[in-house]
Amino acid sequence: MTKTKIECEDLLSEFGRGLKSNAIRKLTLLLGRREVISFAAGAPSPDTFPLEELAEIAARLIRDRGHAALQYGPTRGQSALVEAVAAKMQERGVAEASPANIVLTSGSQQGLDLLARILIDPGDVVFAELPSYIGGIIALQNSRAELVGVRQDDGGIIIGDLRDKIKTALSQGRRLKCVYTIPNFQNPSGVTLAAERRGEIVKLAEEFDLLIIEDDAYYDLYFSQSAAQRPPLAALGPERVVYLSTFSKTLAPGLRSGWLCAPAAISSRVELAKEGADLSSSVFDQAIVSEAVSSGLIERRLPALRDFYRSRCQAMLEALDGNAPADAHWTKPLGGFFILMEFDRDLDTGLLQRAIDHGVAYVPGEPFFVNGGGKNALRLAFSKEPEPNIRTGIKRLCEAIKAS
Ligand code: PMP
Repeated sequence: MTKTKIECEDLLSEFGRGLKSNAIRKLTLLLGRREVISFAAGAPSPDTFPLEELAEIAARLIRDRGHAALQYGPTRGQSALVEAVAAKMQERGVAEASPANIVLTSGSQQGLDLLARILIDPGDVVFAELPSYIGGIIALQNSRAELVGVRQDDGGIIIGDLRDKIKTALSQGRRLKCVYTIPNFQNPSGVTLAAERRGEIVKLAEEFDLLIIEDDAYYDLYFSQSAAQRPPLAALGPERVVYLSTFSKTLAPGLRSGWLCAPAAISSRVELAKEGADLSSSVFDQAIVSEAVSSGLIERRLPALRDFYRSRCQAMLEALDGNAPADAHWTKPLGGFFILMEFDRDLDTGLLQRAIDHGVAYVPGEPFFVNGGGKNALRLAFSKEPEPNIRTGIKRLCEAIKAS
């Protein structure tokens, strides 16, 4: 019998053919092999991982409760952690949150993916900030959402622009589905949504019958008390908001533990989609996280974590003040990991390579802008490099920019 060579590409589904790689992951894999100061990866600093405590918890779990901790578990997640997360949501202002609203996911990224699967039909319109989180954009695009960009300023989404974009999409007869927002210390801009705009977005969602996907990965990482006091949108309109957050930034992303809190009609559908995806997230990881929550390990470390990232942010802001070209401007984050630097002109396309040649890397703006913009912007993560590297790296970056 003669074997015919199978063209695997031809066998792919429309979904499979449409998949795109994440520009940042490609870039950071490339940089992993080079001696550059990297402001590219938006990862937490590994210096913040509580290694000793986690080693002790993991060893104790296997010894004392290994039969349960290494077994399959419920799709919504380990019940003690589900309850702890429901209580956390109440503390964050979602008074009615209960375990029925919670699904624990493999990082909040999986929550975004599952939500896109259960909510989006091809062509559904999703409004996203300009710029927005690339992982959220990819998850929504995989489900063939039409992403419509909404402008933001220092106070986050510009409400008038959101209203205009909604009206335009309606007049085109398109099906509107949701607003995707990262309200606190946004990835990639570092911008925080002003308190008064939060209620206005919820009101718009009510007026036009939209859902809100609130991606609050950086909630705990504020740099001053005033930035801590803004209510989640989920606290203002729990019946319209699907809220996602994560233990990646306050404990360790390798534990792949995030959650979503949604109206029960949505969380139960997410649970069904998750059954098909992975039966459940890692039971062992969840057991570790559960222990880290109940023992107070996470809560105890938060003040030091805020100081740690505040100093790095400060170092980057000072280095930019001292070195940036006159036509540059940048955001002043109230928390999180990121600064967005922008220019009044498009940056030249060879800049990233020249920066890498100077020994520093960043992420170019385009992948964050769903309207094709961002050619004048770059994202700088201050989370991963120590302060001396931040000062040297910004100097190198500014030299590379001035040389262009
Ligand atoms: N949302 C935002 C805004 C993020 O920055 C990230 C991490 N880069 C995530 C979600 C996903 O994080 P994780 O899956 O580790 O919870």
